[in-house]
Amino acid sequence: MVRFTVLASGSKGNATIVTGGRTRILIDAGLSCRELFRRMKLAGEEPESLSAILITHEHQDHINGLAVTARKLGIPVYFTEATHRAWMRLLAPRRQMTYAQWLEQIRKQTAERQAEADCTTPEGEPDDPDTDSFENEQAIGPQMPPPICLTPAEAESETGDESIPSRKQDPTWLPAVEYFRAGEPFQIGDIAISPFTIPHDAADPVGFRLSSEGIHMAVATDLGYIPPNVKAQLKALHLLLLESNHDLEMLRDGPYPWQVKQRVLSRVGHLSNDATAEYLSGDYDGQAVYVILGHLSESNNLPDIARVTAMSALQNHPCLLANRLLLAEQHTPLETINF
Ligand SMILES: [Zn+2]
Ligand SMILES: [Zn+2]
Repeated sequence: MVRFTVLASGSKGNATIVTGGRTRILIDAGLSCRELFRRMKLAGEEPESLSAILITHEHQDHINGLAVTARKLGIPVYFTEATHRAWMRLLAPRRQMTYAQWLEQIRKQTAERQAEADCTTPEGEPDDPDTDSFENEQAIGPQMPPPICLTPAEAESETGDESIPSRKQDPTWLPAVEYFRAGEPFQIGDIAISPFTIPHDAADPVGFRLSSEGIHMAVATDLGYIPPNVKAQLKALHLLLLESNHDLEMLRDGPYPWQVKQRVLSRVGHLSNDATAEYLSGDYDGQAVYVILGHLSESNNLPDIARVTAMSALQNHPCLLANRLLLAEQHTPLETINF
């Protein structure tokens, strides 16, 4: 069984669940943990069945609930190394770290995870660490990890080395971290993943092509334009989630400050409706059963404009069974797509 559920899409939070066989992956955790779980339940998805979290880039609308969600579920987070590092800097901005110190912190966190893996939670102990309120999750700041049993080495480290924060003080602590690199495919359970570089103003942003049971899907949002390497990854898909961020006129006349407008319009910003339509009418191979427009700006776009622009572009690919156009929303999950 292959399923694709967009829980949220837009500058206030992004999250998508991809299920393939026995594996279920959350792509980006841009909503608070509580809101993510609420939407998963609305969409008929069990949070406890998630296998891993995949992160595209470290912008707030993609990582807002990451730490709490990963801790609560005790699942690994897949980043590129540069994105992981940027995320850590974001959560602990006042702490200047050299690369050597950062490597030492990673080494220490890995040792702590290993120590915890060897240590079992006493029976009867409450296993619900999510005492954070929704509001606390929204704010970037120290988030307490779940209650743990400490090994003597960990207990010592809680009071020891002050240059590297212990797990208890560390908002960047995660139950497990795995690195991938753009251009190097890897597998999580029953899902094959090809991360590809996208042009966007983050440390090392990626999109994903995901395959399971012969079904191919791709997530490509947050990109200033569509370069050849991205076009190559968007071929022969069954499902494409593609950004259609803004209407050019609405952005130009809209409320954003000049610098922000320049950023959005730049080669490392976001795709306009017109840029997306140009791709859909040109290089796109017209094969996807579903084309989902995502990351629509609430200030600088209207769903109807995005829809009509993409619809007319897709007329270049007349096919009865393909190119069903859907719009992902910011505030409600899109109905699950089953293959
Ligand atoms: Zn974004
Ligand atoms: Zn972004």
